[in-house]
Amino acid sequence: MIGVIVADETAAREVPRALSDIRDLALGELEQFVVEAGERAFRARQIMAWLWRRGAESFAAMRDLPAPLRERLAARFTIGSGAPAHVARSTDGTRKLLIRLGDAEEIESVIIPTDGRTTLCVSSQAGCAMACEFCATARMGLHRNLAPGEILGQIIAARRELFAGETLTNYVFMGMGEPLANYERLKRALATMIAPWGMGVSPRRITVSTVGLVPAMERLLAEFAVNLAVSLHATTDEVRDRIAPINRRYPLRALIDACAGLPIARRRRITFEYVMLEDVNDSSEDARRLARMLAPLRAKVNLIFFNPFPGAAFTPSPRARVEAFQAILHRGNLTATLRESRGRDIAAACGQLYAERNPAAAAPPG
Ligand code: SAH
Repeated sequence: MIGVIVADETAAREVPRALSDIRDLALGELEQFVVEAGERAFRARQIMAWLWRRGAESFAAMRDLPAPLRERLAARFTIGSGAPAHVARSTDGTRKLLIRLGDAEEIESVIIPTDGRTTLCVSSQAGCAMACEFCATARMGLHRNLAPGEILGQIIAARRELFAGETLTNYVFMGMGEPLANYERLKRALATMIAPWGMGVSPRRITVSTVGLVPAMERLLAEFAVNLAVSLHATTDEVRDRIAPINRRYPLRALIDACAGLPIARRRRITFEYVMLEDVNDSSEDARRLARMLAPLRAKVNLIFFNPFPGAAFTPSPRARVEAFQAILHRGNLTATLRESRGRDIAAACGQLYAERNPAAAAPPG
């Protein structure tokens, strides 16, 4: 028996280790590698600065590292490529990046300039398993989770598309996928985004948007002081069960109660997103129910114009209806903003560019 075990171990040692993406590593892990390579631990921080401050694309570019360390790094790691396969530029300044990953999966990130800010909309998964009926990404199904380095790589890629003098000021996890269904990798990415040795982004400038995975939502807010956006879209379980089927697992009451109990609920407003679908969720009764439902919370509502896509079973609510809905929320003392559709000319809504380029893959099921 012992002989067999020894043989196995020898075999395992002989198999060359596959290169992994250094951008997936936490500081402690990189420090361990550096020390095992016979260098001092501070080299790990230098490497992190090259990756996250300067967006280095090769170890050779990390000039202040000793050459042997650069070689050890190159023998063990890759720096995942961040070059977008395609960039669509809208006349309104919105830029949409289609990023091809190592296995040819494609994800989207969108740079959205608004008054005084530049927000990056980040993807957390290739595709999505949440099956929301009004969402183009849902049509793809879940292809796979993004690795931490792939989440962070979108930020590096986006920086290269900025105009002179422009910087990314805000980050929203509202791209493809359900971030809280990829919690462990999201957590690693957030840690690197926020850490002083990483990107040094204030958590107040980060918003994680979720369809309402209650346990992960509670974990997230216990671990990070980020902002939370909850995609609500309905005021009855009947409607929400249909358009956002995760509601069958975490129904409205459970979701709202969980939001009320979150540590940030007392300090900062939670945003509730509400896509306005004509004759589905846009009646005055809906508006009144929504105001009542959110009254116990410090909440704000973001009313979103539905962005239609080929094969979608909904039409956007007319503007007058959206404004009437907003007025009812205001009378109920709720802050409610209208989110205008950005980048319409470049199909910037979630999953749309992917769908345009891969019509067969994104066709509606059945
Ligand atoms: N899964 C997360 C984040 C991705 S979706 C979530 O559900 O929040 C980001 C936002 O885009 C959500 O509020 C979602 O409802 C909205 N959205 C999706 N498809 C849309 C469409 N066709 N038109 C307008 N908003 C859409």
